[in-house]
Amino acid sequence: MSVTLADGSVVEDWGGQFYVNNIGTGRAEMARALAAQTRIMSWVAPSDFAAVRLALTDDLLSVLPGHLTTPHYSVSGSDALEAAIRAARKVTRRTRVLSLTQSYHGDTMTIENVCGGTLMPYGDRRPWAVHALSPVDLWETAGRDWSRAGGLCLEGVDRALRRHGPKSFAALIVEPVMAGAGAIALSRDLSRGLRALCDRHGIKLIADEVVTGFGRTGRWFGSPTVGLTPDAMVLAKGITGGYAPLGAVVFERSWGSELRRSGLNHGLTFAGHPLGCAAARATIRILKREKLVERCASMGQRLRAGLETLRDRYPGLIADIRGHGLLIGLQFDRIRTAVRGRGASPAHLVGRLGSAARAAGIHLLPTSDGSGFLFAPPFTVTPRQIDRLVAVLHRSLASR
Ligand code: PLP
Repeated sequence: MSVTLADGSVVEDWGGQFYVNNIGTGRAEMARALAAQTRIMSWVAPSDFAAVRLALTDDLLSVLPGHLTTPHYSVSGSDALEAAIRAARKVTRRTRVLSLTQSYHGDTMTIENVCGGTLMPYGDRRPWAVHALSPVDLWETAGRDWSRAGGLCLEGVDRALRRHGPKSFAALIVEPVMAGAGAIALSRDLSRGLRALCDRHGIKLIADEVVTGFGRTGRWFGSPTVGLTPDAMVLAKGITGGYAPLGAVVFERSWGSELRRSGLNHGLTFAGHPLGCAAARATIRILKREKLVERCASMGQRLRAGLETLRDRYPGLIADIRGHGLLIGLQFDRIRTAVRGRGASPAHLVGRLGSAARAAGIHLLPTSDGSGFLFAPPFTVTPRQIDRLVAVLHRSLASR
């Protein structure tokens, strides 16, 4: 799980290179799979036949929830999400898309509108993109109770649908665990409630599994982890473990059949690239053979338990530890750390612990608001590495 940083230092990467690097780096088996595919067929138009794409579809079907049957391949998570939105608009003949504040879904000029944050420079706000407050923005109001925050979020989604007219929405897009927001998982009640709203109004429920897919939550996909039954899943990142670019959206059976009949006009030259497909096949093989999804679950438990010892040892310092598998967020407590004085604001702690970890050869990923850390190491992380990380954090907090 080592990466070389710009200054030449080699560090343990606890962010998994933005949650891509699930199976670890430098695997000879991946190199062999890519080389073999290069000799057979390095590229062919997405509309033409490629045996490796068909074989990947079989591999995907062996791990996906049973009702998701029909993949459409792309290059990245962002363009797979665009394909999903096009497909939802096509079959519903509606345009609006609802998503949650603080969600992240990609970086094209369409998808930045679906994201729940601010637009990039030169972006323009599109009227079809509607947002409801996510649990992370409701957590304080809900008395720091995730289940209540989920209930408030569901009420907000319902209100947003009614404000614009529920029959104007083509799709509702959610991350099962909101990675960029700090590993915020949908509660089971919220997942069920979103499904019910989509059923009631004929809206397509799309799960953005770009981060949570392929084991990151300790199960093959994040949706079953949080009790979500989507009409489509969007996949990228961990699908190839970072060894080649590939994205996909996988549709539920009847939606997929309809698209097969009528077609889906969404295609980039390198969509479903054979090398990406070969990398995905090898990645799935490795995840299965080495039982890495199960390992992600058990290493996640060990990491969480270690972080909880920090919370117990330093009461009032850590506001929350959340997430699933090896997608764990730790948030320092804004109010109490600031009141304690001694400069112990969350940002100060993040800076201090980040530097101490760096000195020990550990690279930590701060959350986007700078109030904590996001832990998402490769599933190959060892118990020793976890224990060492926790010890480094303990030492650094003790000498604060
Ligand atoms: N969805 C989520 C949850 C992501 O984290 C990302 C990227 O970070 C994307 C979608 C976009 O994927 P890509 O960068 O491959 O376009």
